Formats: sequence, C-alpha cells, structure tokens
Amino acid sequence: MFRSSFQRTLTVLLFISFAAVATAAQNGPASLSGKRLKRIVVRGANVVDGSGKPAAGPFDIVIENDVITQIVGIDPVAAAEGRARRPEKGDLDIEAEGKYVLPGLINLHGHAHDGRAGKPMPIEYVMKLWLACGITTVREAWANPKILEYRDKIASGTLAGPRIFAYGGFPGPNLNTAEQVRQRVRDLKAAGYDGIKLYTMDRDLMNAMMAEAKVQGMRVMHHTGVEETNAWDDIRLGTTTIEHWYGIPDAAIISGRQNFPSYYNYNDEVHRFRYAGRLWREADWEKLMKVLDGMAEAGVAWDPTLVIYEASRDLQRAQTNPAFAEYLHPVLEEYFRPNPANHGSYFIGWSTTDETFWKENYRIWMKALYEFGKRGGVIGTGEDAGFIYQLYGFGLVRELELHQEAGFHPLKVVQHATSNGARILGKEDSIGRIRPGYKADLIVVNGNPLENFKVLYPPGTAMVKDGKVVQGGGIEWTIRDGVPFHAPTLAKEVRDMVAAAKRPQALRP
Ligand SMILES: [Zn+2]
Repeated sequence: MFRSSFQRTLTVLLFISFAAVATAAQNGPASLSGKRLKRIVVRGANVVDGSGKPAAGPFDIVIENDVITQIVGIDPVAAAEGRARRPEKGDLDIEAEGKYVLPGLINLHGHAHDGRAGKPMPIEYVMKLWLACGITTVREAWANPKILEYRDKIASGTLAGPRIFAYGGFPGPNLNTAEQVRQRVRDLKAAGYDGIKLYTMDRDLMNAMMAEAKVQGMRVMHHTGVEETNAWDDIRLGTTTIEHWYGIPDAAIISGRQNFPSYYNYNDEVHRFRYAGRLWREADWEKLMKVLDGMAEAGVAWDPTLVIYEASRDLQRAQTNPAFAEYLHPVLEEYFRPNPANHGSYFIGWSTTDETFWKENYRIWMKALYEFGKRGGVIGTGEDAGFIYQLYGFGLVRELELHQEAGFHPLKVVQHATSNGARILGKEDSIGRIRPGYKADLIVVNGNPLENFKVLYPPGTAMVKDGKVVQGGGIEWTIRDGVPFHAPTLAKEVRDMVAAAKRPQALRP
C-alpha cells in the first residue's frame, strides 16, 4: 500500500516536471513563470552582488530549489575555444549574456493595499507590480490580519508575490497606559506579526512599547513625526529604523519647535505637508550632524522614502507619469485625486511657493542623507506607494533614482536596496546578496542599471538597436526563493487587469 502510493506520487511528480519542461520547450521559458523548479541556471551574467562591490562577470549562477548553490566564473579563453566548463542544464536556463543580475530589491516601506477609500482593488495588482519591478521582499508598514494571510499564501506558493515581513500598526485604539501598550505588543507577537510599525505616541508610552518590543524580540520601524518624541528618542531607545524624516530635522531645531503660523493645524493635511516643506531649513546644521552621528552610533537605520514626497516639489511630474495610462488602476486613480478625506491627497491650492520651499527641503534632506551615509549610518529603500501619485514597484525604482540624486554611487544605491535592507530586517545572513548559500532572490535585467535605473521600470526605456529606436530594458526575470517570475508576463497581466477595470461595465457602481 505504502509502496504503491509512493510510486504513484513519484510517477505524478515525474510527469509534472516532465510536463513543465515540455511546455517550456513549446511555449518558451515564460511558461515556467511562477513554478517551483529544481534547478535554474542563469548563464553568462554580469553580477552586482549587493554588497557595494563593483560589478563583475561573466558568471554562471546555479540555483537549486530555493538556494543559490554555485557561482562559476567563465574563463574567456576557454569559452572562445568552446572548452569552458559550464554547469549542467537546468529545468530553466536563462541566457544572461550582456545582462545584469542583482539581488532582488527590498522594499522596506510597502503597503499591500487590496482597496482604496473603501473600494476593492485586487491584491494581485499590487503583488504583480512589485514582482515586475524586481521586488522580492517587502516590509509591510501597517499590517493587519489579512496581510498575515497574504504573507502566508505567498510563502506557501498560492499567491504570487514578494516575501512579506508584516509589521503590525501601532498604536491602536485605547492605548493610554503603559500596561495597555505592553499588552498590545504581546498581542501582536502572539498573532504572528514580524515587527512593529510605530506611527506616533507620547514619550512615556513609547518607552513602554520599546521595552516590551525588546522583550518580545520585535523590530520597530518608526514614522518619526513632529510630536513629543523625535530622533533623539529613537537613538535612546534603539529603534530599528526611522521612516521618512521629520523627526530628524525636528531634533535639530535650536528653539525646540518649528516656527508654525498661529493657524496651523496638524490634522489639516494641506497645513501639515505645506509646513513640512519648511522643516529642514529650520534645522541647525551643526546640531543636525550630532543627531546623524547619534543615529549612526546607536545603529538606528534610516529609510527616507524620498519618493513619496516628490509631488510636493513637482506636482505636474507626479500627476503625469506616462506609466499611468496603462498601469494605474482606476480605484487608485480616484484615490489620488485631491480630496481632504484621503491621506496624502492634499493638493488643494498647492502653489509655486510650496514647490519652491519643497525643492529647497529636498536639497537639505538629500545632503543630510548623504552625510548620514558618510558617517557610517545604514540607509535602506522604501516606497510607501499607494499614496501621493506613487505606483507600487515603480515607486521603489524611483526611490533608487533619488538616492543617486542625493549623491550616492549607483553601487551604493543598489546596496541600500539589497544588503542594507536585509540587515535592517535582521536577515543579512540569508537574503540581499548574490552569494552561494543565500536564498535565490535575484533579478535578471536587460541593460545596465548602474548606468540607468530606468531599465528597471516595466515599460523599459527607449534605446537604439541595429540602427532603430526600440523600447528596451526592463527586468526579464524576478526570482524569489528560487521561484522564477517572468516580469514582462506579469506586467502584461497588470495592464490587462487595469484595462478590464476601466471598461464601462466595470466602473458602473
Ligand atoms: Zn506608509
């Protein structure tokens, strides 16, 4: 009985793997997208390993199940003579000659939205965009029980998406005492959350929260706003990351408080974002350097999410992203429209003056970020998309461009988005690098992202090929945990999803 059922299982398994390989032969490698394979070989790639080291190659990369098992240099002389020793064929062979391979990107500030402003939006839309943009890991920055379900479905292979680290939102309702706060941390831990996303809390309660988080071994990402606490509290308490930026310049204002006008109301988002644009200029530079040194010494990392404020310095750029035509879901489009009821949709009366202040704000912010890196601080990348005209995935690629604009070499930018992200998640031993023994999280890129990060966007970029202008670039494969996802196929599925949602019958209430 045991034997025969075992044999049956074996036959079925053999048949499945044979069928998969046979289909690949008929329909091309794209038909293997999303399938767990035993062996993948990426051939002849230039590798940017994520550590900050220069690119090198060509290499053959062997993936077995979910792990990188070999990286083999190809001897050019032997290759030219046709006697180079190359790895055995895989279930999927990816020809990567002239292409670049990077570790999968880590999005430290993602929101797995399955709806906006009460209207449903398919979770597959977000997940496929993330994968199509090369993201293999997402730190979910306001996780709820549904996010835990998505996380587990992705891990078990029933939902295609990046690996999720679910950081439970904090505070919640009725958290007024230290004991209530401590209990909430224990509840999050017991419910299976991977960490905590702290929004805003008074100092005594933050102290209690951080103490209990330490006991429970939970990492904390802190949206350090303009509140009672600031970056000095993160330094004192050892927060894992400061999200965004406000609490950093806020900790460096000589008078202790930004010079708000008398009518300022923090809950009015037009006020909040307008005067946030005048916060960096009020920080004292010398004091600011002390804050940055304090963060670097205490090991408080910084996830600046430069991308999510870009509309504030150039509204028209944000509103007219050419990718919107095909990639912006109508539910998200509606959410983006100026509306005081929706978070981040604050562009009502947004002025030349506001943009001018924000442009200066960015210059100081980027300079401070660069200084932080120089002083040994750990910098990661996050997008916060789904708000303020930012598309999932596209937002993270834009974040990379902005880190370059801040002054970092593209190799450092890739490091921010890969091995630094892994370090911030406490997973530096298993993800974020192209190295034998590490999880097989990698992307195969048509083009050189060190020259042009735009090749990472799904539409790619215009280039000349054989004397003709063609659309080139784009990620070809995103491999997560050894599962290969054909990025152009995912991008097409997203475009189809958006087109279907825009059809008149779909839009009828
Ligand atoms: Zn967020």
